[in-house]
Amino acid sequence: MMIKALYIHIPFCLAKCKYCDFNSYPLSVFERTRKRLAEAYLAALRQEILLLLKDISLDEIETIYMGGGTPTILDTDQLVSFMEFLKSQLNFSRIQEATIEANPGTVSLEKLLALKGAGFNRISIGIQSLDNWMLGFMGRTHNAEEAAAAVSMARETGWENINVDLIYGLPNQSTAMWEDTLAKVMQLNPDHVSSYGLKLENNTPWGRDYSNRQITLPEDEAVYKMYESLQRILKDNGYIHYEISNYCKTQKTSKHNSIYWQNEYYLGAGIGAASFYNSQRFYNVKDIDLYMDSLAKGLRPLEEAIDLTLEEQMSETMFMKLRLLSGMNILDFKNRFGISPIDKYYDGIKKLVDLGLIHIQRDAIRLTEKGIPLANLVFMEFV
Ligand code: SF4
Repeated sequence: MMIKALYIHIPFCLAKCKYCDFNSYPLSVFERTRKRLAEAYLAALRQEILLLLKDISLDEIETIYMGGGTPTILDTDQLVSFMEFLKSQLNFSRIQEATIEANPGTVSLEKLLALKGAGFNRISIGIQSLDNWMLGFMGRTHNAEEAAAAVSMARETGWENINVDLIYGLPNQSTAMWEDTLAKVMQLNPDHVSSYGLKLENNTPWGRDYSNRQITLPEDEAVYKMYESLQRILKDNGYIHYEISNYCKTQKTSKHNSIYWQNEYYLGAGIGAASFYNSQRFYNVKDIDLYMDSLAKGLRPLEEAIDLTLEEQMSETMFMKLRLLSGMNILDFKNRFGISPIDKYYDGIKKLVDLGLIHIQRDAIRLTEKGIPLANLVFMEFV
């Protein structure tokens, strides 16, 4: 298999949100310090990509995804010149999708026009909620009006593939509040919606507040109702539910994320970025100083390389592909691993079919409606 996707991690944000467990840092508010650190990081990223290209072919790359963090915290000229660098190194005629993540309050009409002109053709905007009280409580640096304005500006500047990210199951969130956010999002008419239930990690402010009983989360039943509202409202508005947490208008699936869900090869650059190729997983160091020091010495900033056994690759392929509602194509699995997934996981599959969580339809194994919100139980059968 060839590497099909390139991920580039920009770890800077305006401030740290209270639930955030991503590898991201608040960037200095001081213009000169901010610019200098960003320049140094981008130089290291270029260095890493050049180093990777010495050993690895990126000729078959179909998607690029610049995520974070908040890539749009960088200056327009920095982002445009980084894209120019990528164009000089990669075969852009094959690139079908180039996504940039953005947060409201860090985009303007000029910046959006320039990014589109530079070659990005998909934008993923972190809205999360359209309730001003909730946004403040979450520690977001924007309000609902700025979030709506970011989507409108993207449309105005000609972006034809706009994703919005949403979170539900938030502390103090009622189903009515969530439905209000969904109704407002529908008015913005994005092409794609990614919506995740909140998962709290202990190392975040909210994780600690939860352990100390300073915040409470909605009961499971209430979260399930929010999931049902999400399903209903998006389907009523013409969205196709194609992955556990992702919905799109026709032809607007995320091609980049689909490569992950198909468990195909991808390369990641930047701090903490993961890669998967040659049956190995690679993880970059998470620390920005270690990352830059390593590249300054001409070394790949790797923290870990893990050889995956055939067993592990089969199991990962099963649960990644089951995330997609198109499911695990039986013949694809057989062609890749030389065995039918039904023969390989007979007992687990039988148990899940009996529980009504998956079904085997024509050529594929798929989650049922009942199995989608219980997908983690399903995946455990294949680990
Ligand atoms: S904007 Fe995103 S990456 Fe940055 S702190 Fe908030 S949740 Fe984390």
